Amino acid sequence: MPAYALAASEAHAVSTAESALYLSIVVPIYNEEESIPHLYERLTAALEALGRSYEIICVDDGSRDRSFALLQELAVADGRLRVVRFRRNFGQTAGFAAGFDRACGEWVVTIDADLQNDPNDIPALLDKAEQGFDVVSGWRARRQDTFLNRRLPSIIANRMISWATGVHLHDYGCSLKVYRATVVKNIDLYGELHRFIPAIASWQGVAVTELPVNHAARKYGKSKYGLSRTTRVLLDLITVRFLLSYSTRPMQVFGAVGLLSAFVGSLLLLYLAYVRLILIQDIGSRPLLMVAVLMVLIGVQFLGMGLLGELIIRVYYEGRNRPIYVVREELNPKP
Ligand code: UDP
Ligand code: MG
Repeated sequence: MPAYALAASEAHAVSTAESALYLSIVVPIYNEEESIPHLYERLTAALEALGRSYEIICVDDGSRDRSFALLQELAVADGRLRVVRFRRNFGQTAGFAAGFDRACGEWVVTIDADLQNDPNDIPALLDKAEQGFDVVSGWRARRQDTFLNRRLPSIIANRMISWATGVHLHDYGCSLKVYRATVVKNIDLYGELHRFIPAIASWQGVAVTELPVNHAARKYGKSKYGLSRTTRVLLDLITVRFLLSYSTRPMQVFGAVGLLSAFVGSLLLLYLAYVRLILIQDIGSRPLLMVAVLMVLIGVQFLGMGLLGELIIRVYYEGRNRPIYVVREELNPKP
């Protein structure tokens, strides 16, 4: 058997062994010491009632309080609780990414550690997913956050994201979501992109839907974000929009503009040549000369940018396995 065939069959064996596990819960945690005991208790109760095999992957995102110590205690007693500890605070997106990399379940559920999401919503979300969806997004229909600095920016952001990506959801920002594992294992996350997972996943051609979920006010600790996240989300939106539409064909985008510009510029230059050589008129003082030369130059620049884009895309797809986080230690890791 050729080497690649062997590798393929091994990969298959691993994937069937992994798919024996039904559910992976991914929880990003940054300074949530007061919430952790309640979270663990409520999650476990909800999951045990579900009666399917599961694992909880807690990603300690460089907490400076007792979060890790608490998780450690819980993980000693419960092998289904897996803990990843980052070396420093890498952000919620990196937390999700580390969880997705390690998830062994057929389905992956993401949930916040602060108890604003309700673990009891998980069965309904999974039910919906089993009806033939790859992504089921929680929708905090009665969101318990302040209006002016949390809900209003979020309403505007959700409208814009829906419009720009073509994936219409009421609540991109809700962490409680269900994904088919193959979907999240196939996307690269960085920056603050976790909010856009449904949109990014849509590139793979997935079925996305949403379901209203409960939402509670934060009881312990405080939110890790302020209004400043609005601009970051906006900039990420531009990135996502661009990646969704053009990422695999920069030459098509820049090249088209470049060709058009160079073509029009060349026509103008031809006309000016005719004026100078046949009509024997002076063209040195004509603004049109400047325009024509500029258009040709810009055209060449754009073609060059398209080529550079193509090169960068190659590098991007080859450098996929570069992680966006660094792990300090892991508890109950899977081989
Ligand atoms: N979080 C994280 N790393 C960060 C910021 C937040 O892991 O750098 C976690 C946090 O502990 C929580 C979740 O991400 O479990 C959502 O954060 P938060 O509740 O502050 O966001 P909000 O609900 O206010 O939008
Ligand atoms: Mg929260």
